[in-house]
Amino acid sequence: MALNETPQDRKRVVVVGAGFGGLTCARKLSGHGLEIVLVDRNNYTLFQPLLYQVGTAALHREAIAEPVRHIIQDNRDIQFVLAEVQSVDLTQRQIATTVGAVAYDYLVLAAGAVPNFFGNKSIRETAFALKTLSDAGRLRNQILTVFEEASVETDEARREQFLTFVIVGGGPIGVELSGALAELVQNVMLKDYHDLRIGDVKIILLEAGDALMKPYPRSLQDYTLKRLQKLGVEVRLNVRVQGSDETGVVLADGSHIPAHTLVWGTGTRAAELTDHVDAPKGRGGLIQVGSDFSLLNHPEVFAIGDFADYMFEGSPLPGLAQPAIQGGEYVAEVITKVREQGQTIAPFSYWDKGTMAVIGRGAAIASVPRPQPYHADRHRGKEQRFLNLHGFPAWSAWLGLHLTYLGGFRNRMVAALDWSWDYVRNENQDRLITAVRQKEAESDDE
Ligand SMILES: Cc1cc2nc3c(=O)[nH]c(=O)nc-3n(C[C@H](O)[C@H](O)[C@H](O)COP(=O)(O)OP(=O)(O)OC[C@H]3O[C@@H](n4cnc5c(N)ncnc54)[C@H](O)[C@@H]3O)c2cc1C
Repeated sequence: MALNETPQDRKRVVVVGAGFGGLTCARKLSGHGLEIVLVDRNNYTLFQPLLYQVGTAALHREAIAEPVRHIIQDNRDIQFVLAEVQSVDLTQRQIATTVGAVAYDYLVLAAGAVPNFFGNKSIRETAFALKTLSDAGRLRNQILTVFEEASVETDEARREQFLTFVIVGGGPIGVELSGALAELVQNVMLKDYHDLRIGDVKIILLEAGDALMKPYPRSLQDYTLKRLQKLGVEVRLNVRVQGSDETGVVLADGSHIPAHTLVWGTGTRAAELTDHVDAPKGRGGLIQVGSDFSLLNHPEVFAIGDFADYMFEGSPLPGLAQPAIQGGEYVAEVITKVREQGQTIAPFSYWDKGTMAVIGRGAAIASVPRPQPYHADRHRGKEQRFLNLHGFPAWSAWLGLHLTYLGGFRNRMVAALDWSWDYVRNENQDRLITAVRQKEAESDDE
């Protein structure tokens, strides 16, 4: 199939990004007489919410990544192209990629977001991020390697540095990672390293605001704090990081935390590709879209998920999986029904299915909508509208949801069961140091 020109017999939809939004959209478009070209720089789709478990050796990477070609095996009208998209030419209606130009009739941009270091060069160069499978692999190698380095270090101060982990960001990434790391230390490292004592390892979670897990109600924020403290995590609120180097982290008040590992778990910004799309940008450099997710003056081009700045009822859609999935489904309907058949469809309505976060095995927080009509109690405020759970019930709900999701995701329930067995038994099995762990190392085996 020639990619640089559109086919004569049917229209072509090019979808950029095989994440939550792009993959959903491509699959929904399938079976409607269109030619769908799905482009991604990776040959797999990634379940990012569990990256922290790969980073802490709790899960094998195969458990959270699935080859795109496997997922679309039965969709013969979807062609997958492994390529980096470099720019979009809205006038010529084609995208430039590392394997050449790809022409489109419709374009759906779903290239996600990247970590935001807020322009701080020293942090960008020294901190570990958690956004890609390679990031998670590098972090895992770093964590496992510093324990080895500490085990042969005779200088007390340097040993302390090796065994101090600073995690920035009191949102879901920082909280889940801190909890999982504390459990790795308690359940595995203390057994593996005979000279290691629990007080030797410091896990410090820094948050610039006055509470953890900001969008959650106060009761769940307090639970999160207490639970992390119980796991041995030192939580510091109202603390800003100013910079970092290989010896540690410098705070805004000038103090210094000696540490060999800094993990940046806060904030995202628009993916690089947005700089190469000549369209109006909104919040955080994201592509501005209208109510049907299309670009101003370009009804044939759409942006969804973390790539788009979409306002719903006066607030931006959050950077979560559900808005990306729901946006992908909606855009598929806009293309197949509105643009292709001239039909009218209902305006997009975001269905908030709630959020949850794990704070170690057996404990979680969840804020899920009550089972009553969404519109009926929308104006009563979040505390009333949501059912707030914590502890084991919330964790059970989380486990059930993720098993169901990964079961479908990998199309092999047995893999999900395998994982849950390891997980429940406190086995952090993926403890092989497989590559250099420097964050700039590009070619490792991840
Ligand atoms: C550590 C972590 C934990 C999270 N936890 C949760 C959670 O608990 N719950 C929740 O709802 N959300 C969570 N999120 C957020 C959620 O994962 C994102 O909101 C969601 O993935 C956005 O979907 P998307 O389709 O917009 O982008 P993505 O899923 O990021 O997909 C973007 C795709 O585009 C591809 N791509 C990017 N640039 C290019 C290019 N130039 N060329 C070709 N391909 C490209 C990428 O390879 C990727 O496959 C988490 C995110 C992270 C990083």
